[in-house]
Order: sequence, then C-alpha cells, then structure tokens
Amino acid sequence: MALSNDQIDSLIGMVTSVASDELDCDGCFGRIAEFAEYHLASKEIPEAMKVVQRHLEQCLCCKDEFNALMKGLEAIDSD
Ligand SMILES: [Zn+2]
Repeated sequence: MALSNDQIDSLIGMVTSVASDELDCDGCFGRIAEFAEYHLASKEIPEAMKVVQRHLEQCLCCKDEFNALMKGLEAIDSD
C-alpha cells in the first residue's frame, strides 16, 4: 500500500503533535525548576509549561519531586 504525500504529512503531523504534547519524566525534570518558579511567584503558567503541569497531574514520582522542590524554594524564600 502506497501512501499519498497528504497522508504522509498528516501522519507526521499526528506523531509530532503527540510528541510535543507529552512529556516523559526526564523532560519533566528538565523543566520542573522553571515550572516551580512560576508557581512560587504566582505567575500565570505559560502555554509551554503546561505540559509540565499535565505531567505532574499524571505522574506521582514527578509530583513528589515537585512538592519537595517547592518546599525547598519556599524555605529559601522565607529566609
Ligand atoms: Zn514523571
């Protein structure tokens, strides 16, 4: 079966949109500090950081990491 260029394009589009929307734990750890800073400053979470938020809602181990990080940052802040 041969795919037309349009079909190939739409398949690639699907794969890329899934990949950019889903974050694995490594990707989450890479951005978690930045995400925590937004939280701590009560800033609005930018669209690019919402993948981190979604990952934290689904992943307990990253959520634990985030909570620990927040505690640490809050402790520094209150010094
Ligand atoms: Zn995770």
